[in-house]
Amino acid sequence: MLVPDISIGGCVIKAGQTRQVRLEVAKLYTDTDFSVPVHVIHTRKPGPKVFVSAAIHGDELNGIEIIRRLINLKTFKVTAGTLILVPMVNVYGVLYQSRYLPDRRDLNRSFPGSPKGSLASRLAHMFLTEIVSLCECGIDLHTGAIHRSNLPQIRANLMDTETLSLAKAFGVPVLLNANIRDQSLRQSAEEHNTRILLYEAGEALRFDEVSIRAGVNGVINVLAKLGMVRLRRKVKSFTPYIANKSSWVRANASGIFNSLKKLGDQVDKGTPLATIGSPFGEIIALVKAAQAGIIIGKQNIPLVQEGEAVFHIAFFSEPDNDVAEDIGMMQEALQTESPVLE
Ligand SMILES: [Zn+2]
Repeated sequence: MLVPDISIGGCVIKAGQTRQVRLEVAKLYTDTDFSVPVHVIHTRKPGPKVFVSAAIHGDELNGIEIIRRLINLKTFKVTAGTLILVPMVNVYGVLYQSRYLPDRRDLNRSFPGSPKGSLASRLAHMFLTEIVSLCECGIDLHTGAIHRSNLPQIRANLMDTETLSLAKAFGVPVLLNANIRDQSLRQSAEEHNTRILLYEAGEALRFDEVSIRAGVNGVINVLAKLGMVRLRRKVKSFTPYIANKSSWVRANASGIFNSLKKLGDQVDKGTPLATIGSPFGEIIALVKAAQAGIIIGKQNIPLVQEGEAVFHIAFFSEPDNDVAEDIGMMQEALQTESPVLE
């Protein structure tokens, strides 16, 4: 079967070609172009079309490094289908080291967008029509916010069995069955029948080595599951924990925040998570877990105001005593293992 050409950003890519193209979004007031760089691998063998995107939030940098490493990995060879890599969707935000576009518009709340809307809306529209709508599946790479770290995790619609099987293949310890937010990429993608895995790991404006390695391995594992790359041997697979709910624990006082727990720790209802102290040294409050679960996100800055979200805890319907131990083992494996490509 002959694989047809594809067209991205007005550029025709023939079967068997690997090309870099630019999606022109707008002209900036500096008289320079705002364009999104795209790396396309369009193989001769029929197969799924998949995109991997990073920096939809311009200050979330781990994903940029994940895509850079994939492109330069000598052993990484796409043998079927089409892979579209977009290392920086929100180029404007990357330039300003900011999550947002002008007017503090959040790109992930600007879908489906319009060619006549705000800059965020135009970018959303272009990304959706040029990239997302071509693909059966997409992996969108994110990190925690500024001063907040996330345990490597996949958020997706796990009620869909195909999405669930891809999420499991990614190979991170925790899968979160996350609700769709209005005007998010996931919402618009689903309307185009594009399945989305959202990878969350690490912190904004930082590179986190474990998160990056887990991301590189995860993307490769999903592509292998889809038959687009071949693995030399079967990867050691862990059974991830599936959470249907999560919530933030908030600081119950203002002061110096001293965390007693780390990402991946298992907590019970009432477990002390952190102390909050005065500048004079005495402890004025204890932050406790409201429910049993696993810490999947936490604040890193050691200062808090009352009401600030400090720990993100995922809840599991079937609590298991070994969750924390398993997560520890999985994290250790991610630190040492590299992808096992053919
Ligand atoms: Zn994000």
